[in-house]
Amino acid sequence: MKASQFLVSTLKEAPQDAEIVSHQLMIRSGMIKKLGAGIYSYMPMGLRVIRKVEAIIRQEMERAGAIELTMPLVQPAELWQETGRFEKMGPELLRIRDRHERDFVIQPTSEEVVTDIARQEIKSYKQLPKNFYQIQTKFRDERRPRFGLMRGREFIMKDAYSFDASPEKARESYATMASAYRRIFDRFGLQYRAVAADSGAIGGDLSEEFQVIAATGEDAIVFCAQSDYAANMEKAQALAPRHARAQATRPLAREATPSQTTCEEVAALLGVPLQQTVKSLIWVHEQSGESGAPAPEFFMVLLRGDHELNEVKLAKVPHFAQGQLRLAHAKEIEGLFGCGPGFLGPVGRPQGMHLLVDRDAALMSDWVCGANEAGFHLSGVNWERDLALPLPEEVYDLRNVVSGDLSPCGQGTLSIERGIEVGHIFYLGTKYSKAMNATFLDVNGKPQAMEMGCYGIGVTRLPAAAIEQNHDDKGMIWPESIAPFVLVICPIGMDRSEEVRVQAHALYEQAVELGWDVMLDDRGERPGVMFADWELIGVPHRLVVSDRSLKSGVAEYQHRRDPQATELPLGEVISFLSGKIQH
Ligand code: ATP
Ligand code: MG
Repeated sequence: MKASQFLVSTLKEAPQDAEIVSHQLMIRSGMIKKLGAGIYSYMPMGLRVIRKVEAIIRQEMERAGAIELTMPLVQPAELWQETGRFEKMGPELLRIRDRHERDFVIQPTSEEVVTDIARQEIKSYKQLPKNFYQIQTKFRDERRPRFGLMRGREFIMKDAYSFDASPEKARESYATMASAYRRIFDRFGLQYRAVAADSGAIGGDLSEEFQVIAATGEDAIVFCAQSDYAANMEKAQALAPRHARAQATRPLAREATPSQTTCEEVAALLGVPLQQTVKSLIWVHEQSGESGAPAPEFFMVLLRGDHELNEVKLAKVPHFAQGQLRLAHAKEIEGLFGCGPGFLGPVGRPQGMHLLVDRDAALMSDWVCGANEAGFHLSGVNWERDLALPLPEEVYDLRNVVSGDLSPCGQGTLSIERGIEVGHIFYLGTKYSKAMNATFLDVNGKPQAMEMGCYGIGVTRLPAAAIEQNHDDKGMIWPESIAPFVLVICPIGMDRSEEVRVQAHALYEQAVELGWDVMLDDRGERPGVMFADWELIGVPHRLVVSDRSLKSGVAEYQHRRDPQATELPLGEVISFLSGKIQH
């Protein structure tokens, strides 16, 4: 490609709304152009990266036996009503109407359509397993589209769906995808971690997220440096404390805490460590709003003051298997306790209010909590003496792990780092196939629901994640496998020197011949402008040809990560690059 024919469109400044480096650099380098909130054009420079990401995914998906199709962007609501998702999914699902007033959705994923295809195509166990995938535009009306392609509303996803005859076979399909994903992410040349993720109501351990490590990542990921244990924060297990509950040593006392409503403030006022306090959160469990549904139930959740509630773990408490959970409103709390949420505690709580106690909180002694009276807390609170010991069915792992916790693998302690979720693989079981009656005839001729899995990769999020991980103050630094161009040739003074023109073109032609993704910058720009542009764009390999270098029979080579250029005799340039360029 020659720059004079391409669109090289760089900016010195990033727009105001670009908060993170990948967003800034993608706009500045002309990779993407904003059209609306979370909606971008993929400009020629950006599309080259996206296409390379797609090509790697395609190769590895096919190697793993998945087959490509494309499902419609606009999908009839009827299919989505079969699974109930048309009603259940919130405003993230974009619903539209056609001229006949029929409802449609723009696909946020495609479980319904692919299951519809499977129930028509697959009749017998002999046709299983099958894995269908597409690389397609998705639309999700995200509450907060931001960070450019990182969280767009319109974006590209690779979504694959496996169909199997039994849970065991589905497990095999899942394992095949798990290893295909590792190959894919290895080939992107990024530092990543596959972490265990929560698999929702289905249970089991068949859900993993692929997280690109980056300080700006939205997700907290938990790992043990001494083993291969890794999980996302939602899933990471806090081990039960090993110590026994200490004896009570302090009397129960009522303490004035006139304006102290947080554990931090109360601990500071009373001069006790934060770990000595307990926070009490009120959650409401409701069945669906139909008439005759049981009245809402209130739960008091107790955690050590320095710990944070993990809502995914809370939702897994067996009692909550059905219905919805939400935090109580301030008004409800006032009504029940006669005081605000900053002064609550389990001692003397309203009658019949259930307790849910984190395992750490259950083993505390001499603790501090609210007195259920505005302006007061209790100190020296002890289980057994001041309130009944929590029952086993009241004690759960309910908190987020913290760095330094013992690892569930038993081999070390947990560390926490930030990650960007670029892929997610998931065993679905028969959730969709049962809802949509997607059955096949088994060996005995009996109809069975197909076992499904789904496997996503954020195709347009990936380049953003790659940039978050690989950049410097000059711009992006692409891993070679997904760089928009692998090599750029910058001739200096080509308009003045025939020799420079001839040599630069000769090198360019040889590179093209070798199949490299090469860019010849024939725009006639000054060296400073050329260098700044290609450093911003992050092309890994650069060759400079100038009158001066040609006088000594060399070209100057510099990798985007090299501090300095190296001189290469002209005759050796191509063989040198052949040793460097892998793709
Ligand atoms: P997130 O937690 O980031 O919202 P998700 O759990 O909704 O992700 P999935 O439904 O599992 O995501 O989608 C599969 C992949 O699609 C994700 O791993 C992510 O890489 C990508 N993805 C999801 N939402 C977006 C978005 N709004 N913009 C860009 N990529 C996205
Ligand atoms: Mg989401």
